[in-house]
Amino acid sequence: MKVLKFGGTSVGSVENMANVKSIIDNGEKKIVVLSAMSGTTNSLVAIAKAIENKDKTDALHAVNVLLDTYIPVLKTLLTDAALHTEATNYVNSRFDVLKAATSSTYTQVLENEILAQGELLSTFMFNCYLRQEGIASTLLPALDFMKTDAVKEPNFDAIAKDLSDILNTSEQADIYITQGFICLDVNGEVSNLQRGGSDYTATIIGAAIKAEEVQIWTDIDGMHNNDPRHVEGTKPISNLSFDEAAELAYFGAKILHPQTVLPVKKDGIPVRLKNTMDPEALGTSITHHHTETGIKAIAAKDTITAIKIKSGRMLQAHGFLKKVFEIFETYETSIDMITTSEVAVSLTIDDDSRLQEIVSDLETFASIEVDKNQSIVCLVGHAIVNDAGTHKLFQILRDVKIRMISYGGSNNNISLLVDTSNKIKTLQKLNSYLFDFATV
Ligand code: ADP
Ligand code: ASP
Ligand code: MG
Repeated sequence: MKVLKFGGTSVGSVENMANVKSIIDNGEKKIVVLSAMSGTTNSLVAIAKAIENKDKTDALHAVNVLLDTYIPVLKTLLTDAALHTEATNYVNSRFDVLKAATSSTYTQVLENEILAQGELLSTFMFNCYLRQEGIASTLLPALDFMKTDAVKEPNFDAIAKDLSDILNTSEQADIYITQGFICLDVNGEVSNLQRGGSDYTATIIGAAIKAEEVQIWTDIDGMHNNDPRHVEGTKPISNLSFDEAAELAYFGAKILHPQTVLPVKKDGIPVRLKNTMDPEALGTSITHHHTETGIKAIAAKDTITAIKIKSGRMLQAHGFLKKVFEIFETYETSIDMITTSEVAVSLTIDDDSRLQEIVSDLETFASIEVDKNQSIVCLVGHAIVNDAGTHKLFQILRDVKIRMISYGGSNNNISLLVDTSNKIKTLQKLNSYLFDFATV
């Protein structure tokens, strides 16, 4: 069985939903994972924020504005009167939940329940549409099997068991539809796999059912060699290894949720990135194979904080780094980049929610400088640290102020830390040095 995930744009209009229908209607047995319609989760985040800020009127207004976008979609998508009524009743019931939430006190659980409505809406509507088109499909509620554990990681054993029980007992169909993104946490409360998490849902399911393949269908023809939102002339990459794809996803390539490839890597289940709007395009195939060496792609991750820890006697002092790392461990904050010198160590963190405590603990034995608004620009490719073309990367030092460089940590990754105001320039310069063969 295959798992096919369709993102927000792919289910974001009636026309695109029709594309999805023709892609999945090929007689093969599959699980289809859907995101919320594009824009919906952003609106739900804004609604939750308004409730948190006690702006009840704003929150209710935003709920009504969102509801207004669903009415015409229902009308065009569902021409069958009975199915139109069934779906409209369901959509109204979900919006009743949202309206009620605007009068409630904000909690994290309330926010998670609000955010979950988008995927519940899209899957219900799409399932009605398939029934209208005479395609047998069964809706599998993700909250019946998608569970996370005490450290907010997927509980793979429980998911595999519950999903297999559900597949064995539910009405047999060629197409099963389920919600991406949403899950139950260890307390049984509605939660989610973080923004963009539907990709992760797809590979978690892929690993649970030992799928033949996981396909991620989106609005672009695969992983490009640079960020197409900031750089012109980027090109799709036809093959990536799991490790290369994991590095790119972790370091900001938005096409994949950071954790996407981890669940399927162990079993070598291939992941294919495809374009819903251009299904014939080759896309990107992610497997264990390394097809070529050299720099394949560049990605960037924002909202990074750099911390410089200076101590006159660093390297002479045994256990200095141990003391530093223990502080980060205490505050459950992971470190992305690290560089050292005789007198100082610089490192970066992504999650700065415990920054104050970390800094005050570090200040007991070192002087500390903190720089916010940094971006990690990450270059990825098999064995790039040994590649003959890699020296071209250092031409960037002529043009942009680089705060840190991490080279050699892994054979697949070279990372640069730049001020976020220099990120786009860095991506563009690197593109022309490395991929455009421009004279520099
Ligand atoms: P979906 O809603 O289908 O999950 P996303 O918006 O999450 O889609 O991801 C697709 C988008 O990721 C593309 O439209 C593109 O703008 C962006 N993107 C960023 N970096 C890359 C990259 N290296 N390759 C392809 N797309 C990228
Ligand atoms: N709808 C969720 C989001 O916008 C999950 C996803 O699209 O993958 O983040
Ligand atoms: Mg996405």
